[in-house]
Amino acid sequence: MSAIIIDGRAAAERLRQRVAARTAELAREGLIPGLAVVLVGDDPASQIYVASKTRQAKEAGLRHFDHRLPATATTAELLALVRQLNDDSSVHGILVQLPLPNGVDSATVLAAIDPDKDVDGFHAVNVGRLALGEAATVPCTPLGCLILLREAMPELAGKRALVIGRSNIVGKPMAQLLLQNDCTVTVAHSRTRDLPALCLEAEILVAAIGKPRAIAGEWIRPGAVVIDVGINRVQDADGKTRVVGDVDFAGAMERAAAITPVPGGVGPMTIACLLMNTVEAASRGRHRR
Ligand code: NAP
Repeated sequence: MSAIIIDGRAAAERLRQRVAARTAELAREGLIPGLAVVLVGDDPASQIYVASKTRQAKEAGLRHFDHRLPATATTAELLALVRQLNDDSSVHGILVQLPLPNGVDSATVLAAIDPDKDVDGFHAVNVGRLALGEAATVPCTPLGCLILLREAMPELAGKRALVIGRSNIVGKPMAQLLLQNDCTVTVAHSRTRDLPALCLEAEILVAAIGKPRAIAGEWIRPGAVVIDVGINRVQDADGKTRVVGDVDFAGAMERAAAITPVPGGVGPMTIACLLMNTVEAASRGRHRR
């Protein structure tokens, strides 16, 4: 068997087109969704990521507000900026790019964001809403995973799902989303015993651990759908650096029904989902005015 490769780039493109269409609709009603991105310091990876967000937001017709602060910025300065953005009616989504420099109290800064503008879905109010099964802004990466999963497996109810990783930004919200979709969910982590046996039972496997090719092909249940969130840089035998996932892709291809590649799977979906969350926040805000 050779798995179907789930094309995250194409899915992200389709989602961006839907976002652009919805943005144009809102613009005709006089509302342009606005996304504010706060970048502190000069972390090169964050700069690249923020540049992509800016470009894609502009392409989708969103208004984009860029706030750059030096690495010496204090918690108080960031809190003042977040409060200013909370009060700005042209800003519908606020994203504070993580990681923040060591001296900044990240938890306090994230907690200060208006939950209705928290397009990353990291605020305790949105985490709580998701856990309660209420309407919530869902973190972008797990949301992208769910969209890709549904492409390969439209009917999720009753499926046995394994999420490997329990981070607040990927693993835990992913597990909540699968539960909301009536899957029977197991969450594994670094202290889990006999991970291969759990994998072999999983009809849906989401790997988010940050360990290159740690999930072996022979652990995959035949016919499973595999969503690989991992982004790991490795040096291959030829000395070239490449990006690989948490799953041994070649091995998993032999057993899975469908699998996301790395790169080109989950990665492209994250920013597209951020744009979608921003447009939805703007649309909800319109009803509150
Ligand atoms: P993280 O905060 O480091 O969490 C990793 C999780 O994996 C932890 O819960 C850890 O368990 C668990 N874990 C580590 N080694 C394990 C093992 N050998 N077996 C089972 N569980 C293990 O990472 P993250 O932020 O969730 O990110 C995970 C991966 O996804 C990374 O490669 C990251 O780059 C990638 N990522 C991609 C996107 C995207 O595509 N847009 C977005 C976010 C993250 P403990 O809790 O016990 O320590």
